[in-house]
Amino acid sequence: MKRIVVIGNSAAGIAAVEAIREKDKTSPILVISREPYMPYRRNQLLDFVEGKIKEKDLYFRSQDFYKNNAIELMLEKEVVELNLNKKKVIFKERDFVEFDELLLTTGSSVKLPLMKGVQKDGVVAFHGLRDAKFLIENLPLAHTVVIVGSDAVSLELARIIAVKKIETKFFGILNEPLEGVDVVSDNSVMEILGDSDAKAVRLSNGKVIGASLVIFSSPSAPNIGFLKDTDVKTNHGIVVDEHFCTNIPFVYAAGDVCEFSGRVRNVDWQSAVQEGQMVGGFLCQI
Ligand SMILES: Cc1cc2nc3c(=O)[nH]c(=O)nc-3n(C[C@H](O)[C@H](O)[C@H](O)COP(=O)(O)OP(=O)(O)OC[C@H]3O[C@@H](n4cnc5c(N)ncnc54)[C@H](O)[C@@H]3O)c2cc1C
Repeated sequence: MKRIVVIGNSAAGIAAVEAIREKDKTSPILVISREPYMPYRRNQLLDFVEGKIKEKDLYFRSQDFYKNNAIELMLEKEVVELNLNKKKVIFKERDFVEFDELLLTTGSSVKLPLMKGVQKDGVVAFHGLRDAKFLIENLPLAHTVVIVGSDAVSLELARIIAVKKIETKFFGILNEPLEGVDVVSDNSVMEILGDSDAKAVRLSNGKVIGASLVIFSSPSAPNIGFLKDTDVKTNHGIVVDEHFCTNIPFVYAAGDVCEFSGRVRNVDWQSAVQEGQMVGGFLCQI
């Protein structure tokens, strides 16, 4: 019996283990996530911040799912390294688990830029449930929010915050005006100022503007840092073929962390689910 380890407990990872269990009821499966939460709909985080849905509505699988399908779950375990010769997944705490087949569904995330002051309280790289909860808790106390971003998520976040009647300054490109959002496209944020808390930002023209929260919400990049000392082929993400196989025979990848050579991949929830289903089906056959 082969031991399958899946890194990632979200759209692609869950779809994959469901597809595996449809045909293979017995192979040991371990799912790992660095987050402390049961799987949640990342694609609905903005609705949560806006107050349209409650936290409980985000969760799409419960403890029973793992129990009923004999799937082991490890939460709050960050993978920092792989040893492919010994087929080991190594955690931040230096403990490890072994595998026969390894599926990588680590998605992507927004990283804080290398900028003076980014470690201050009140500065967020918005990507997950922890960040959404932080905003829900802190937005009512904020007088001015600075958002640095360029994608649809950044714009929507700006709109949601402005609707709450909080002064919202958006550093990015906006094709059409957004009510209540002050768009700054001729200057960028260079430094976060304050003691331990963010209080203001310094712009590229030297001007300082007050900010109680500073949110970086794009660009996001595939979570591949733990592959740095391996031979797994990466470009922007992990390069896979039509079966989601990497260049290493027993390593697979699906969802936002992967990319196809010569074909564009859609970055959305449904694509991650479909890819998870496909790679799960493929893993049962080998
Ligand atoms: C704010 C926001 C809004 C969005 N809105 C939409 C939308 O409206 N519609 C839409 O279709 N899509 C939307 N998306 C995109 C969609 O959520 C993603 O495409 C989808 O979540 C990708 O799923 P995934 O399984 O590939 O990865 P993810 O959902 O990113 O999950 C990655 C998993 O890997 C784990 N992980 C990562 N690194 C490690 C590590 N080193 N060690 C252990 N575990 C690790 C994480 O904890 C997580 O469990 C949105 C995304 C965001 C962030």
